[in-house]
Amino acid sequence: MGISKNAQVVLERRYLIKDKDGNTIETVDEMFHRVADAIASSEKMYENGEDAGKLAEVFYDMMTKLEFLPNSPTLMNAGKDLGQLSACFVLPVDDSMESIFEAIKQAALIHKSGGGTGFSFSRLRCEGSVVNSTGGVASGPISFMKVFNVATEAVKQGGSRRGANMGILRIDHPDILKFIDCKSNNKEITNFNISVGLTEAFMKAAEKGDDYDLVDPHTKETVGKLNAAKVFDKIVEAAWRNGEPGIIFLDRLNRDNIVPSQGEIESTNPCGEQPLLPYESCNLGSINLTKMLKKNGESWEFDWKKVEKTVKNAVHFLDNVIDVNKYPIEEIDFTTKQTRKIGLGVMGWADSLLMMKIPYNSTEAIELGERLMKFINEVGREKSQEIAAKRGTFPLFEESILPKDKPQRNGTITTIAPTGTLSIIAECSSGVEPIFGYVFVRNIMDGTEMLEVNSVLKEELERRGLYSEALMKRIAKEGSIAHIEEIPEDIRRVFVSSHDISPEDHIRMQAAFQKYTDNAVSKTVNFSHAATEEDVAEVYKLAFRLGCKGVTIYRDGSRDEQVLNIGKVN
Ligand code: ADP
Repeated sequence: MGISKNAQVVLERRYLIKDKDGNTIETVDEMFHRVADAIASSEKMYENGEDAGKLAEVFYDMMTKLEFLPNSPTLMNAGKDLGQLSACFVLPVDDSMESIFEAIKQAALIHKSGGGTGFSFSRLRCEGSVVNSTGGVASGPISFMKVFNVATEAVKQGGSRRGANMGILRIDHPDILKFIDCKSNNKEITNFNISVGLTEAFMKAAEKGDDYDLVDPHTKETVGKLNAAKVFDKIVEAAWRNGEPGIIFLDRLNRDNIVPSQGEIESTNPCGEQPLLPYESCNLGSINLTKMLKKNGESWEFDWKKVEKTVKNAVHFLDNVIDVNKYPIEEIDFTTKQTRKIGLGVMGWADSLLMMKIPYNSTEAIELGERLMKFINEVGREKSQEIAAKRGTFPLFEESILPKDKPQRNGTITTIAPTGTLSIIAECSSGVEPIFGYVFVRNIMDGTEMLEVNSVLKEELERRGLYSEALMKRIAKEGSIAHIEEIPEDIRRVFVSSHDISPEDHIRMQAAFQKYTDNAVSKTVNFSHAATEEDVAEVYKLAFRLGCKGVTIYRDGSRDEQVLNIGKVN
């Protein structure tokens, strides 16, 4: 199979099986067989299960053709003793020592297996409040987050990848101002992404300039007031300064909570795309859209039949993962199987647009994104209904808010993941993000430079006889081709990069995909270095108006050590 050099390096480092001395003893092809066999084997758990051998071939085929890939833990652990296959977990943190340190232990077990954890710290009593049993004073959510952070740091040495966490605090927690600033020093709480949990009431108060109440989670009493507009500005300022905190809209997550009887959704996974109830986990998978195109004369267009077939096989795959998964703790096993959530998404969206010659920042692209995701969501749902007809619905279906005339196997079907590693393996642009840069200069050990050029751009320039190394170096230096005049206008119009796209268009694309995604969309809105706090505030308000579930922004050059790839977690 055709796998790139970068993909080979990534897979060898963490995914392929090694012996005791650290020698790789598995090929990429064997890895895909291991995964396909393990996931298809769950057919044997059902009396009316399909032929596991044949199904394994179907799964193997779509993975080796790089049409669909499951999230990293599935590739790493399927068919092995560890057998933990999910990327996303949310753990409860209640207001007691037992609960706090239990969560730290559980997170350690999850990180060891390559999963990421999200926590809401909103239930912890605020700093300075009384501890009944000792008469001492509580140290508050932020000090405990530091303990979670240190534990994550220690575990990452031995785990399959460095651990990642999401930390959420509700806007009405009395320690909210400290939380907003807790990552202003880039060197603290480094294993966390943080987000403020906003409510609709808060957004309205901010608009009007009203005060809002701070509530002590321990006593449930109102213990103070803050001006909503001022706090909103503070969040904006912090995000403008270095990209943190992000925001999530809690009421919206709970409007899509399919089983409100089980409690509220208070947190998401580390990159924000997967809201979950405490102890739920979710496995993700992504379809590589560049492989879903077909030629129509000279131009490319979506092959809707192929999309349909791939979505159906992918949903089958992800539902099977739930059964063969070896969960790190009992509660997660139980809770996950109550709702059987899966998160099917896409990658290679920006590359596909380039192939179709549609600028990312155009109405056409936004409309096509919406149409595509609607189709994926509908076909995914149909497949989930088909499986339900054979194997039953998820156990909480009757008490869920889903329409009762169409029994479903999975509580949720779709999620747009960042695909940080998957997109390297599949060699395509990540998730629904635009292209960050078309050309990178990589320094190799002996001092030589190697050019890495986006393959769609390279092909187009070569076809027109315009390709040269000198030109590529110029693109790498300028970071965009928008102002390079020797490149024809029609190419410059289509081959836009993250910074050529206005923040409003970033959000419009996120909203287009969100409209037909059950869970959420991982997306970073890129701002130029010169952007103002006002610009950031406008984007937050637009995201709220357009129905997004959260926002992550990044202003160019605003962190000391800037990572070039879009993912915040490596
Ligand atoms: P991948 O491409 O490796 O499958 P993604 O970049 O799509 O992963 O991330 C999906 C989710 O996987 C994240 O939101 C997070 O829950 C989890 N995750 C990603 N990177 C890490 C990491 N280094 N450690 C733990 N979990 C991670």
